[in-house]
This record gives sequence, structure tokens and C-alpha cells, in this order.
Amino acid sequence: MLEFRQVHKAYATPQGPLTVLAGVDLTLGAGESLALMGESGSGKSTLLHLAAGLDLPDRGEVGLDGRAISSLAEPERARLRRESLGLVFQQFHLVPSLSVVDNLRLQARLARREDPAWTAELIERLGLAGRERHYPEQLSGGQQQRLAIGRALAPRPALLLADEPTGNLDEASADEVLALLRALVHDTGCALLMVTHSPRVAAPLDRCLQLSHGQLTAHGQPMPRGQQPEPPPCA
Ligand code: ADP
Ligand code: MG
Repeated sequence: MLEFRQVHKAYATPQGPLTVLAGVDLTLGAGESLALMGESGSGKSTLLHLAAGLDLPDRGEVGLDGRAISSLAEPERARLRRESLGLVFQQFHLVPSLSVVDNLRLQARLARREDPAWTAELIERLGLAGRERHYPEQLSGGQQQRLAIGRALAPRPALLLADEPTGNLDEASADEVLALLRALVHDTGCALLMVTHSPRVAAPLDRCLQLSHGQLTAHGQPMPRGQQPEPPPCA
């Protein structure tokens, strides 16, 4: 589903090149969920950008859905991104001029996967029934992020990339949004790569990796459900 092979990435800075990823290997299987942790500035967002083909590695290869996305020209990268990927960020990035239902429809149409029954089911599950014609600014933060998750999943992507999706929410909304995200990911069979600072958020996922000094390191098995909030091994 997603594969990084010896991926290197550095940024040019006034102080010289800043190496962010120094030979990252990563394999994420279909339907698998992975938490990515690491200190601020450790390169988590860079890794997600490379996974989405929004940026290219200096060396190494990124494969998405069986294709080497890092070797494709931008129009093909954009198509693969639209058809195989859902993206959720800390900022909601909704289209402000489009209603709830049109935000969902647009994403499905861009991926050429329009499915009115799935859109209707999503609206129910997002808790937005009755608000189909509302605009993003008329929704609470939690509702906007639920819509952003629904939009990402409207084309039924094979992989959802989420970069600190609850970073802008209070704890109660964050819990609600995460529960929804996990349920939808589970029910659609979508794979998940989620950046988070929170061990509590990481714990229920299949695996947890830590990015540090340009390298990914594995941590032990996640906590069995029901034993939270003991600190999970990836804390
Ligand atoms: P994280 O998401 O883990 O906080 P980032 O991937 O955003 O980390 O950034 C990793 C490092 O690379 C940081 O030191 C950041 O300042 C730097 N960085 C990120 N993007 C750029 C860029 N476009 N140009 C220069 N430096 C960058
Ligand atoms: Mg980041």
C-alpha cells in the first residue's frame, strides 16, 4: 500500500542543508493502521508530504498503491493522490464556498468515484444529517474536522494520511473525531498513517513508529484495548 525505500530528504537552509529523513524504510499494508510519533521538527509532516507525492525525496523511492509515486511526473502524481489517498490536516482545508454535501461530492468527483449512497451514509455517520446545505463556517470546529474526514473518505481511498488531525480541537471534540475516524477507517478497510503527539491516540492503532534523527524506530506492540490509560509502549 505504502512503501518507503531508503528515503532521504534534506532542505536547503541559510545555515546549509538540513537533513530531515536519513534513509527511511517503511511498509504499510492494506488496511493497516500506523501512528507516527516524534518531537516537533523531527520530520513527520515531511514524511507525510512524501507519502502523498506532494514533495519528492532526494534519494530513495516512495511507492503508493503499487506505483512508484516518487518517479511519476506531477500530473500522474496528482491523479494517484486523488484516486488512492485521503488527506486530513490540522487545519480543516474545506472549500468555504461549498456546502457540506458539495464538499463531499467534489472530492468524490475529482477521484471519478461518485457514489450518492455512500455520500448519504457518510453524512449520517459524520453526524451532519440536517446540515447538508450548511457551509463550513456555520459548523463547529469538531463538525468541520468530521466533514474533512468524510471528504477525505468520500472517494473510498486505499490510504488515509492524517497529520495531527485533532491538533486544533479541545479534548472532548478530539475524542469524538478520533472515534469517528477509526470507525470509518475500519469499516472502509482503508489503511491509516496518522501523525500524533498523543500516546493515547496512538495506542489503539496496529503499530506505532517514532521518527528521530532522520530514522524510524519501532516501538513495542500497542496496548491491548481496555488497558488504557496506562502509558503505551510508544510513549
Ligand atoms: P514535524 O512535522 O515533525 O514537526 P517537519 O517535517 O514539519 O517536522 O519539519 C522537519 C524540519 O524541516 C524542521 O526543522 C523544519 O523547520 C524543516 N522544514 C520543513 N519544511 C521545510 C522547508 N520547506 N524548507 C526548509 N526547512 C523546512
Ligand atoms: Mg508537522
